Amino acid sequence: MSRLNPRQREAVHYVSGPLLVLAGAGSGKTSVITSKIVYLVEQCGIKARNIAALTFTNKAAREMKERVGKLLKGKDAKGLTVSTFHNLGLNIIRQEHKTLGYKSGFTIFDAEDAKALIRDLMMKDHADSGEDAADVQMAISNWKNDMLSPEQAASRAKDEREQMMAQVYKLYNRYLKAYNAVDFDDLILLPVTLFQNSPETLDKWQNKLRYLLVDEYQDTNITQYELVKMLVGVRATFTVVGDDDQSIYSWRGARPENLVKLKEDFPNLNLIKLEQNYRSTRLILNAANKVIANNPHVFEKALWSDFAVGDQIRIIECRNEDAEAERIAGEILNFKLKNKVDFKDFAILYRGNHQSRLLEIKLQAFQIPYQLSGGTSFFARSEIKDAMAYLRLLINPEDDAAFLRIINVPRREIGPSTIEKLGNYATERDCGLYQAVDEIGLEQHLTGKGLEKVRRFTHWLRNTTRRCSQEDPVTVIKQMFTDIEYEEWLHENSNSPLQAERRMANVWYLIDSLQKMLDKDKGTADEIGIDEAVTKLVLRDMLEQQQEEEETDKVHLMTLHASKGLEFPHVFIMGLEEEILPHRASIEENNIEEERRLMYVGITRAKKTLALTYAGSRKQYGEKIETIPSRFLDELPEDDVVWEGGGKNDKAANQEKGKATLASLKDLMGG
Ligand code: ATP
Ligand code: MG
Repeated sequence: MSRLNPRQREAVHYVSGPLLVLAGAGSGKTSVITSKIVYLVEQCGIKARNIAALTFTNKAAREMKERVGKLLKGKDAKGLTVSTFHNLGLNIIRQEHKTLGYKSGFTIFDAEDAKALIRDLMMKDHADSGEDAADVQMAISNWKNDMLSPEQAASRAKDEREQMMAQVYKLYNRYLKAYNAVDFDDLILLPVTLFQNSPETLDKWQNKLRYLLVDEYQDTNITQYELVKMLVGVRATFTVVGDDDQSIYSWRGARPENLVKLKEDFPNLNLIKLEQNYRSTRLILNAANKVIANNPHVFEKALWSDFAVGDQIRIIECRNEDAEAERIAGEILNFKLKNKVDFKDFAILYRGNHQSRLLEIKLQAFQIPYQLSGGTSFFARSEIKDAMAYLRLLINPEDDAAFLRIINVPRREIGPSTIEKLGNYATERDCGLYQAVDEIGLEQHLTGKGLEKVRRFTHWLRNTTRRCSQEDPVTVIKQMFTDIEYEEWLHENSNSPLQAERRMANVWYLIDSLQKMLDKDKGTADEIGIDEAVTKLVLRDMLEQQQEEEETDKVHLMTLHASKGLEFPHVFIMGLEEEILPHRASIEENNIEEERRLMYVGITRAKKTLALTYAGSRKQYGEKIETIPSRFLDELPEDDVVWEGGGKNDKAANQEKGKATLASLKDLMGG
C-alpha cells in the first residue's frame, strides 16, 4: 500500500460510490484492484466472502488470488471470489441450477464442442446452405452476447441466411438443454436472465457480493455489463478499471462503449486517471504511445515513465518463417547466456495460434523449455473428450454426462425431444439415463423410432461393455472406434483432412497409453484392470489441469490476445507482416484500429527489451510468397529502433552512406 502513488491511493480509498479508473498500460490498474481488496477487508471491515473481483483470464485470476492471499492473513482471505466472469457465472448456475431447470452435474460445452454440435445440426438440416459452421457459431454467440433469444433473432433476421442461422440457434439451444449442457456464452447469459426473472435470487446474490471490482473493463460485452449492473444494484459500490486502447475483443462481442455507458447509468460515477507507467523502459513506452496515437481517441490519456531510457527496439528481418523461428530461439539462448536471466523472463507473442507450430519445433531443437498459454491441452481437445466419454461409459454406464456427450457422436439421429423425454423420465424415477432406457415405464413417455434408437444404443453399449470384460479390452476398444466409424465422423467435422487425421491420431495415442498402463505391472501383484486404468486416465486429466497452473522456468508462448494484463522482462513479437499483423480479415473489414490496439497491447507487455521479427518470404498453401513488412513498423519512432537482417533501415542506412560518399567525392572534385 505504501508504494502507491497519490492517484492510485485515491482510487483505493474511494469506497462510497461507483468508480472508474481509466488509464494506459502498466499504470497500475490491476495493482489498484489488488490493493483495494486488501483495503476493503483490513480497513473497511468488509468480509472477504462479500467481495468479488472479476478478471479476464484464468491466469490473471490465479495471479491476483495469489497476490491477495500473500497480503491478507490466511483466514482473512477466506471465501474471497477472484475469478473470470465465466467462472462467476458457472458458480451462480451451479447453485441455482434447479431454478434454471438444469440437473446437477451439467456439462460445459467449450467452443470446440459447440462447433461440432452446430456443424452436425447443419449437416442434417442445412447441408445445402453452404454456410460455414464457424460463421453460424459466431452469429449465435453474438446473439447470446447481445441477449437475444432465438425467437428475437428470428424476428430480426434481415434475410434468408440470418433466418437459417436463427433456426440453427433455436435447435442448438434445445439440444444443449437436452444434453444438460451449457455453452460459454450461457455462463453469463443464464445468470442474467435468471436475475431478471427472479428478484429473490438477485436479492440473495446482491447481499452475498457486496463489493465488486472488475479488471479489463473495456472488454466486457453486453451480457457481462448487464451482470455487473444487476449485481451492484442500487447500492452501486464498485470499482472498474480499464483502458480503451486495449480493447481487443470486439470480434467476440466486447463493447468498449460500455465505458461511456457507465457514466450514463451511474451519473455519480467518479473518474480517476493514472498516468505513470511502472512497467517499461522509456523507449518501449514511447514506441507504444507513438503507435497508438494513430488511432482516434475519445479519452485523452498521457503516459510517462521515470525508468531508464533502455535499449533500442530491434526489428529483425528473417529470410523466411523457418529462419524467423530459429532466430528467436537462437536469440533467447544467446541472451540467456550473456545476461544470466531465466527462461521464464521471455515471452514470444504472435497473432494466431498456428504461428506457434514452427516455433515449437525450433525451441525443442534448441532444448529450450517452453509453455504454451491459452492453447488447448490434450485432454481439452474435443476428440479426446469424446474418447474419454466412451471409456468412462464402458466402466460406468450410469455416467450421465458421458452418456449425453456421445449419444449423438457419431450421429445416431436421436432428437432433442427424445432426449428430453428420457431425461424427464429418469428424473422422475430418480435413476440414471442408461437404466431408464430399459425400464418398461419409459414406454408411456417414449414410443416409436425414438425409443427404438435409444434402445439400440444402450444395447450396443451393453454388448461392448460385456466384451471388454471377456476379451482383451484394448482390442475391443480399438474395434469400437472402428465400428462407430469415428474417423469418418471426424472427417465430416474437421476443417481439413489433415486436421481429421491428426485428431484421430490423438485418439489412438490415448488408447496406446491405456495399453501401456495395463501392460506396466502385468503379471505382478500390482496388475490393474481396465476400470482402474480408465480411472487413472481421468485423474491424469485433472492432474494436467493442475500442472498447467504451476509456474516453472519456461519461455512463455501465447497469442497477443492472451497476453493482455501480463508483463515480461523480454518480449518478442513475431510475424510483423501485412495480412498477419494487421490480420488479413481486419484489413478487408477496414478494422485496422483494433489491430493497432493489439500491437499496443503487445509492445506494452515488455519491461526491458523488445524485438519485432518478420519473414521476408513465407510459404502459403505450399507456395512461397514475398511478404510486406507490417505498416505498424513504420509507426514506430524512427530514432528508437534498429533494423537488422537487411530490413528497411539497413537499406536506408546504406543509401545514406552512398549519398555521403557521393557528396564527399563531389567535394574532393571541387564541386
Ligand atoms: P495493464 O494495462 O497492462 O493491465 P496495469 O495498469 O494493470 O497494466 P499493473 O499490472 O497493475 O498495470 O502494474 C504494472 C507494473 O507496475 C507491475 O509490475 C506493478 O507491480 C507495478 N506498479 C504498479 N504501481 C506501482 C507503484 N505505485 N510503484 C511501483 N510499481 C508499481
Ligand atoms: Mg492490468
